[in-house]
Order: sequence, then structure tokens, then C-alpha cells
Amino acid sequence: MALGDNKRRIKYALRLAGWSYENGNRDKLKRDAASVAPSEYQSEMDGSLFCPVCYTNLNRVPKQKEHFSNGREAYFCHLAAYKDIKCDLRSSRPEGKRYETYEEARKAIDDENLVIVDGFIKNKPELPDEAGGEYDETPVEDIDGPISDVPIGRHRGESFKLPSKITTVAGICRNFDENLYKYYYFPNQKYSIQLVDLLHPVEEIQEEDDGPKLYYGTIERTVHLGEHKRPDNIRMTYLKNNQSCVHDFCIKLQDKHQKTHGITDASVGRTVIVYGAVSDNGTGLCFKNLGWGEFALLPRKYDELLA
Ligand SMILES: [Zn+2]
Repeated sequence: MALGDNKRRIKYALRLAGWSYENGNRDKLKRDAASVAPSEYQSEMDGSLFCPVCYTNLNRVPKQKEHFSNGREAYFCHLAAYKDIKCDLRSSRPEGKRYETYEEARKAIDDENLVIVDGFIKNKPELPDEAGGEYDETPVEDIDGPISDVPIGRHRGESFKLPSKITTVAGICRNFDENLYKYYYFPNQKYSIQLVDLLHPVEEIQEEDDGPKLYYGTIERTVHLGEHKRPDNIRMTYLKNNQSCVHDFCIKLQDKHQKTHGITDASVGRTVIVYGAVSDNGTGLCFKNLGWGEFALLPRKYDELLA
């Protein structure tokens, strides 16, 4: 089950006191608003919470308590008063998006609402100066990919020739809150899908899966193998997984490879995003042979969005 397959597709609201859907400037809202997760809601925020996609007002339900009486988490929802304003987040089920014309798809790309992904960067790009560089400062290379034939036309079998990107998971993690509601087209998809609906929790994975997908997981422990802890030795980074049939679930890569992505002994509790296949690993499962652009730590400020 992907992240979005539930009522909680609205991961955060934009909060800006004094702003209104009818009279407010959207650029100002996007620039000045604070992000508020459903769990951070307080009653004085009423009237100043807005949808990050359609910008109409949001309510939190239930209003007073953190949880429903049956234990389900509180969530944000749109107001009936704005039911005529179309919003892709109104639906509790993810919907793929198709485009009427080439121009419409092209405009969605130009407006950064649609990203055509041709692939992820496999090898570390040559960097001019690496000495002393913090991992966070590693430039995220978003390379232009080929013009791709993308089957996202509204009419059966229709495809458009659109510019693609060869990207990195780190690039997806940067401005993750904004990216969550962009539509992404990965190779072999039938339509474009919002990122929020493309992220699969490692916690719920029960078996191998050859088809690469986007996953997110929490680092439970991490072990640098080998007596002398050489950079070439494998580091096993174990991710939280509650499935009784899975003994453990890890990222299995050389220590130096993980280290350049910021994963060290100090990374327990951090969230990692991976684009890859799920492979067998003895009694457990793993991600292995990941390319340079295929995994990244999620900046801590976004952890709440995947909680
Ligand atoms: Zn909305």
C-alpha cells in the first residue's frame, strides 16, 4: 500500500493568518505560510489553514482530539463550501492524471507540476572540489534526459513527446513538501501519479519485488562490517519492518557509498528514501546495488510528512 492510500493524503496545511482564498495572493501564501501537520493543529489556527494544492480552507477532523475514538489519526479535509473548486487532494483514493493536449502537458512541466523521469543517476558525477565538503552541500544534478514518448494523453493510446529528466532521490527530497503533490511519470507507468501516492512504506513490505519503486523507511540500526572497518566493507543499514515473515530489511552497500549520502552510525532514527527493487537477503530482504542517485536521507524537517 502506498503512502497515499488513505484519508491522510493532505500531509500538511499552509497556515497564514489574515490570508483568504478569495482575496489573497497565492505567491504570498506559498512564500510566507508555515507548514502545519495534522498533529500540530491548535484551535486558534482555525480559519488560517489552507490546502497546499487548491488553496481553499481546510478543517482538521476531529476538531478537538488528536485521535478519533477508534484510535485513527486526525487528518485535514476540505470544506463543503468550496466543493466546486477542483482539487486532486479531495479524493481519498489516488488518481492518475492524463492530459488533454501536448500543450497542457508541456505547460504542467513548465509550471513544475509534472516531472517526466527517464531514470536516476547511476554514477557519482565528477565534482570540482570535494575536500571538506559537507554531504548536504553535494550538488543535486538534475540532468536533462531524452525527449520521451509518454503515454499520458487523455485519449486511449495517445502519447506526447516530452522532455525528461535523469534525476536523483536527493533532488526529490529537496523541497519534499512541494514535490509531494507534483505529478511524476516514471518509466512504464500508465499515467502520471502524485509523489504522495508513489511512496511505499518499507515497514509493510513482505516479499521481493523486481520492479523498481520509491520506498521510504526508518533506520533502526546500522552496522559497518569487517574487522578493520574499511570504507570498501559493506555497511548493513537496517530499516524498520514489522512483517512477521521478514526477519530483517536492510540497505546493503559499501560503507563509503552510504557515507557519501550521510548514512553513518549516527543515522539511527532518520528516514531514508530509496528508488530500487526489493531483493532476497538470506532470511530477510534488502536494497542492494543502488546507484548514486537512487537513495538519500530525507531532511529531518520533513519526517513529520511521512509519519
Ligand atoms: Zn485542495
